[in-house]
Amino acid sequence: MIHTATWKQIKKGLVTDIYFERTKKILESKGIDMQVKAEFVAHVLPLDWQWAVLAGVEECAEVLKELPVEVRAMKEGTVFGIEQPVMEISGRYLEFGRYETALLGLFCQASGIATMAARCRKAAGEKELISFGARRVHPTLAPLVERNAYIGGCDGVSATLGAKLIGRDPRGTMPHALILLIGDTVEATEAFDEVIEPTAKRVSLIDTFTDEKVEALNVAHALGEKLYAVRLDTPGSRRGDFLAIMREVRWELDLRGYKNVKLFISGGIHESDIERYNPVADAYGIGTAISSAPAIDFSMDIVEIEGKPISKRGKMSGSKSVFRCRQCGSTRVSPAGQKPGTCACGGAEEDILMPFVANGDLQYDLPPASQIRDFVLLQLKKVEL
Ligand SMILES: [Zn+2]
Repeated sequence: MIHTATWKQIKKGLVTDIYFERTKKILESKGIDMQVKAEFVAHVLPLDWQWAVLAGVEECAEVLKELPVEVRAMKEGTVFGIEQPVMEISGRYLEFGRYETALLGLFCQASGIATMAARCRKAAGEKELISFGARRVHPTLAPLVERNAYIGGCDGVSATLGAKLIGRDPRGTMPHALILLIGDTVEATEAFDEVIEPTAKRVSLIDTFTDEKVEALNVAHALGEKLYAVRLDTPGSRRGDFLAIMREVRWELDLRGYKNVKLFISGGIHESDIERYNPVADAYGIGTAISSAPAIDFSMDIVEIEGKPISKRGKMSGSKSVFRCRQCGSTRVSPAGQKPGTCACGGAEEDILMPFVANGDLQYDLPPASQIRDFVLLQLKKVEL
């Protein structure tokens, strides 16, 4: 038996919390059917994050376009901060209240993954970043993880279905299984070179049988110019000072004329490791750190009922606009209905809470993953870790 929900069940509103079902029942029995505005907003961010990347918008559209509601939302990939609503739904509460659970779930997980990928991207600078996280989540979620890792800033993804979803070729190296089954690192690397299409980069895994330095030189001698990188996935028990091992391998490769051979690092790598390893490492395979990123705790808050501002304690009432300067990116939240102005830097502001769904139709064509990623990378230049 499969333990995941189907899209059919999600669209029917069957992935919901029981208290929403009971609320609907009570409101219906009392004849209360009100027009409300509800915003999706993060009041806190995980860890010490000062910003996050909005993701999950395309999947939310799948749910929202079936409903008789009007929606404004930030574009997928928008970098946002706390108290900046990312989406507002206007409609009869009875029509959409039960979808709160599913919509939050779509935003919270995807945005957490995209944000962690973006943080790793910031830490890695221009170095290569490949998502290896498919194996750390339920397989039905693997393409979702890979897509959000990619739009957050990864250069590529290792799992085939995820790569298909983002329209890129999957990126990978070689598993220990290949080397164990062939029985020798050089022979396995030569077999890869012989059998696999030339467009796949030759990355040899050099920690299977013996010392990384020895294996690195052996495969470099064997493949010469064709060797793109050596991968160090050294087990924790043997790592000691992993950075020192990398430096040693780099030194020995350089000394023998293999300056072009890159160091590809993997195995439990986190954002903080990237900062440490970046002076020596050239590429990273990141798994758990991105795939199991903390969820962003969005909440759906009612901010207006029948045209009147209202909210629970601790939340700001009323429909809002989020004005962002096109030039410096500075952002302010304003009551809805006001016009964007001019930023202190002289740049023009725009309302980034844009019309998204109306009358069952999306208000613009959803961009491909590569375009969302470009948008994220542009904004990342304006934020700090
Ligand atoms: Zn500005």
